[in-house]
Amino acid sequence: MTKLEVQDTQLLEAQDQEHLWHAMSRHVEGSNPTIADSGEGAWFTDVNGKRYLDGVSGLWCLNLGHGRKEIVDAAAEQMMKLSYFPLTLSHIPAIKLSAKISELLGASYKTFFSNSGSESNETAFKIARQYHIQTGNPGKYKIISRYRAYHGSTLGALSATAQANRRVKYDPGVPGFLHVPPPYSYRCPFGEEVTNCDKVAADMIDQMINWEGAESVSAVIMEPFISGGGVIVPSAEYMQRVQEICKKHNVLLICDEVVSGFGRTGKMFGFMHSEGVQPDIVTMAKGLTSGYLPLGATSVKSEIFETFKEAGADKHLRHVSTYGGHPASCAVALKNIEIIEKENIVSRVATLGESILGRLKDLIEHPNVGEVRHKGFLYGIELVKDKQSKEPAEDAMLAKVIGLCKEKGLIIGRNGDTVPGFNNVLIIAPPLSSTEEDLNFLVETVENAFNQIN
Ligand code: PMP
Repeated sequence: MTKLEVQDTQLLEAQDQEHLWHAMSRHVEGSNPTIADSGEGAWFTDVNGKRYLDGVSGLWCLNLGHGRKEIVDAAAEQMMKLSYFPLTLSHIPAIKLSAKISELLGASYKTFFSNSGSESNETAFKIARQYHIQTGNPGKYKIISRYRAYHGSTLGALSATAQANRRVKYDPGVPGFLHVPPPYSYRCPFGEEVTNCDKVAADMIDQMINWEGAESVSAVIMEPFISGGGVIVPSAEYMQRVQEICKKHNVLLICDEVVSGFGRTGKMFGFMHSEGVQPDIVTMAKGLTSGYLPLGATSVKSEIFETFKEAGADKHLRHVSTYGGHPASCAVALKNIEIIEKENIVSRVATLGESILGRLKDLIEHPNVGEVRHKGFLYGIELVKDKQSKEPAEDAMLAKVIGLCKEKGLIIGRNGDTVPGFNNVLIIAPPLSSTEEDLNFLVETVENAFNQIN
């Protein structure tokens, strides 16, 4: 690994300070961000030559790790063969990928490609609204999501996002977005004494639809497991109940699989943990290409698509994305899925997520750990000042654990909001291809950090 010349590093840091606007970051004079130079597997090396294990897979997307030559070759070959082509017409990698996605989803779906998770959700909202117009229910436009959910940064997706601090400076968002409490049993929004929080949370959707009038509600959007909002893991029955409610009211169920898709939770898709659930619309990004190139996908059940066919009337989806479904991105996604299947990544995540990462559950013995929530390679550790009162831990405690891990060469994250009682969950989501040695290092480093607090 080459270490950049000292003066180059200083120049990069100066230019970074001067010109680069970082995502979701406080810009503080004099503090330098980690500048990555190269990566290998689950690890990256910064410009000073220090190596880190990426315990959050970039932004939960680098599922197969850095440096997969087959993926890079697939992109290069596709770019040489056909460098760009729009999906107003068609091209081979998009056709093959749409067929593959339908196979993986376990039913017949039609897929619209975009460039990101936000766009895949925007597309889903437009499809849901238009679907109802075209099936004789033009008043069904409202979209229901859960508090703590994150569904993207563009204004529609941000309106479905229900995390105050991400929104307050950009509100009012798009009209017609409503929010219900999440199935958050640890701090049940319906009261401490409630023992069946998931069921009450699902039934709240039923109530909201009744109160709003089912004739005005278009869709419910949810992640199978809220990820960015603090890793909230309901029982399998929760989604089953939500599906039942949606069907009863002719409301579409949109499943946001941007994080959970392609193996992250130990199944190919997160909804597959709930037997019998088959969402009307599934949105994807991140793990679809393991982050190698941007790609979003909105897969819609074929019977819904049927209502978009032209039959004299103007029924087509008036939606286009110049780069959506770029041939190189689709070729990368196909290769990524081929590797996931060939290397049995999904069952590996299910196994190692319990065996090695499962040791993280023992952190519950620590006085400041209120709950450890997990599914596959997705872990959330909720920190409290005191187990009895469940008062959320101070910012400094989370910063200390993150800092101690970083010192030892491990990057872990935390959920993004800064509302008190909402920002106290540490997040661990390493690449799905991390070696056993990597995972052992991760667990030991986190354990050591916890040994040093309190
Ligand atoms: N949905 C979920 C669940 C996400 O976590 C994210 C991104 N973190 C998005 C949507 C938006 O994806 P993107 O950043 O690619 O627009």
